[in-house]
Amino acid sequence: MSSPAAIVALIGRPNVGKSTLFNRMTRSRKAIVDPTPGVTRDRHYDRVEWKERSFILVDTGGIDERGGDVMAGSIRSQALAAAEEADVILLLLDAKQGLVPADYEVVELLRRVQKKILYVVNKIDGPEQEQELLLPFYELGVEPLWVVSAEHNYGFATLMDGLVEQLPAEAAPLHLPDQTVRVAFLGRPNVGKSSMINRIIGAERMVVSPVSGTTRDSVDTLLSHKDRHYLLIDTAGIRRKGKTTEKLEKFSILKALSALERCDIAVVMLDAEEGLTEQDTKIIGYTQEQGRALILLVNKWDLVADDRKRQQQILEEIGRAVPFVGFAPLLTVSALSGYGFKRLFPVIGAVYRQFTATFPTAALNRLLTDAVAHHSPPIYKNKRLKFYYTTQLSSRPPTFVVMSNSSKGVHFSYQRYLVNRYREGLGLDRVPLRLIFKDKA
Ligand code: GDP
Ligand code: GDP
Repeated sequence: MSSPAAIVALIGRPNVGKSTLFNRMTRSRKAIVDPTPGVTRDRHYDRVEWKERSFILVDTGGIDERGGDVMAGSIRSQALAAAEEADVILLLLDAKQGLVPADYEVVELLRRVQKKILYVVNKIDGPEQEQELLLPFYELGVEPLWVVSAEHNYGFATLMDGLVEQLPAEAAPLHLPDQTVRVAFLGRPNVGKSSMINRIIGAERMVVSPVSGTTRDSVDTLLSHKDRHYLLIDTAGIRRKGKTTEKLEKFSILKALSALERCDIAVVMLDAEEGLTEQDTKIIGYTQEQGRALILLVNKWDLVADDRKRQQQILEEIGRAVPFVGFAPLLTVSALSGYGFKRLFPVIGAVYRQFTATFPTAALNRLLTDAVAHHSPPIYKNKRLKFYYTTQLSSRPPTFVVMSNSSKGVHFSYQRYLVNRYREGLGLDRVPLRLIFKDKA
């Protein structure tokens, strides 16, 4: 899968039921087992699957960090942002509250937007309420009006069917050469993503070919270098005049999410001068939710080149803020001067090898037996925890199943011990690694 995921934005005033609908839409998804500690799910973005289609759903109310008090103002900024970044906008209205002036205003604003928009009247909890509660909304002069009860499911399937019909047609899959390493460059606006990609493209012995028909916003580049192919995914996007950094920042995260869907390795760029921000931490968290390999690039190192203390400070800050990605290689670089840049490709190569590595079951079982012999598993409910066998479930990231007599009894500290033994034993020190504990039937 290499075409970018569609983005659907949910907008609406506070209390119209955005989070209720968000939860209903994302709930259908199969739960993923992710034992990675430190990865917290951000409830404002998630992937939704419905009848063979999937998209990224964003509750824009949730990302407006100023909170929900500035009614009209905040919905206006949600609408504008959604209009920029989303493929489809769901405007949620509240049937119980009825129409309010802000509704007219946002509808007016959306009229001028060249996007697919679904006008959805929520809190119509059953067919008997439809006639009375829906009627006032025809005042808005937009059609059709979709009727839903986010809480009680009424109208939900119809709405979802209507929604997936509005998604952009899926682009034909990209025909990439076999074993192309897909690398996405992520980071806040102005951190230097485009500069870094330009430097790579301009470097010697890189053969660049354009990739046609990729994406609406981001630009992909196919590179060949030393017999390997790389797809570089730039998320910097098109620069629009007059857009403030702040506004860009809030929604650049959407592009990051979309790019994460189709890469092997996420290169997250940080700014040496500004240090690590909350948004950086979030993006790093997303890379792990998606199970991507990760490389951290601390860019603009030229700006702190003479300041040892600051250098130390930044590196410590990163270690503290994202301890759950201790495996990720960290490079200090300068896209401007080229400093450190030569180390990037060897690191990408090493990470990719680990990310895609596969291991025979016999070797894995030896490793498990050894690990258990060196450090006895704890007692759980009066019984010694036993491990029977292990096998590799998948690569990208390397994921292993471990069968035991009681998966619940594998405490965090023993899990960590085993993860570390797997890392050492398999030489997987630079990528995320997942162990899934299961009960033997
Ligand atoms: P948000 O602020 O837009 O995210 O709104 P919430 O999802 O938090 O919902 C606000 C309130 O409306 C909560 O008390 C919900 O229980 C309620 N609510 C949401 N959807 C429905 C619905 O379909 N019917 C009814 N009757 N109440 C709902
Ligand atoms: P993007 O928005 O992440 O793609 O960032 P750009 O590549 O457009 O860079 C934003 C600004 O930072 C530009 O003015 C660049 O010249 C500058 N910049 C990028 N990399 C470096 C660097 O390594 N050092 C310094 N000093 N400036 C940089």
